[in-house]
Amino acid sequence: MLRITFLGTGGSMPTPNRNPSAIAVNREGELMLFDCGEGAQRQMMRAKTGMTISSIFITHFHADHVLGIPGLLQTMALQGREEPLRIYGPRHVDKFLYHLLALGYAGKKFEVKAIELKPGDVVRRAGYEIRAIKTVHNVVSIGYVLEEEMRPGRFNRERAIELGIKPGPLFSKLQSGHSISVDGKEIRPDQILGPSRPGRKIVYSGDTRPCESMIEASKDADLLIHEGTLSEETKQYAIDYMHSTALEAAGIAKKASVRKLILTHISARYSDLGSANKLEEEARTVFENCEVARELMVIEVPYSDKGQ
Ligand SMILES: [Zn+2]
Ligand SMILES: [Zn+2]
Repeated sequence: MLRITFLGTGGSMPTPNRNPSAIAVNREGELMLFDCGEGAQRQMMRAKTGMTISSIFITHFHADHVLGIPGLLQTMALQGREEPLRIYGPRHVDKFLYHLLALGYAGKKFEVKAIELKPGDVVRRAGYEIRAIKTVHNVVSIGYVLEEEMRPGRFNRERAIELGIKPGPLFSKLQSGHSISVDGKEIRPDQILGPSRPGRKIVYSGDTRPCESMIEASKDADLLIHEGTLSEETKQYAIDYMHSTALEAAGIAKKASVRKLILTHISARYSDLGSANKLEEEARTVFENCEVARELMVIEVPYSDKGQ
């Protein structure tokens, strides 16, 4: 399972339709947050994601991306959390967290670890990794790539039976990449398994002007979540405030040959559904498989070879 829940899809200012930035990613039962804008915890309650988050990955410290942290941590404390929580972010993440956590008496019993990342840094986890990537905004910022390890190739059952292997534990041993012995003959996994298959790859831009590093990092991604704050008619604001238009984000998706693009961080001007459709239409002139995120939208990211 790789499930993305859009908790907050608005730009810098919340509107009745959209909360500030927050995205929940559930990978095989592990829950992570990417940015944590104001209201994220109530959106998590509505979406029923649960609150057992392993880590929060912050793209930058504009308030619309972090103000949800103090309230969320307070709720975790009330729920009796004891496991440490890792919060990753760009330069000075420790200082910002110190101030965010000093905002009220929380009485928490768990440790909050601040971990600073710079573009190129890699967080390795079992089965996947998260990489920090360079983005271009008016404060220090990073984006994130989550990429899974290669998976073993497809198991050729008929071939295995032909070679005299009985279904059962020997099948599993081959499947997990180990050679076995049948009637004194060695059988290697590569005789039975097809070529290794890619895992899934998702990319989140945070706030950024369109940039080469996003294209490079998003190459062949299954899903690119890119900010598309503004429309072509308001492009000058995108330039002035270091954001991207929907069309510019679509250009990144096209150049990186991603499978799907979701636009988020939608400006208050385009917050309602009708205006968001306009952004989607503009983006689709360049990249067809594109959608503007809606609040509480849930996306399951399949394997590129259809989940086999
Ligand atoms: Zn923002
Ligand atoms: Zn920002």
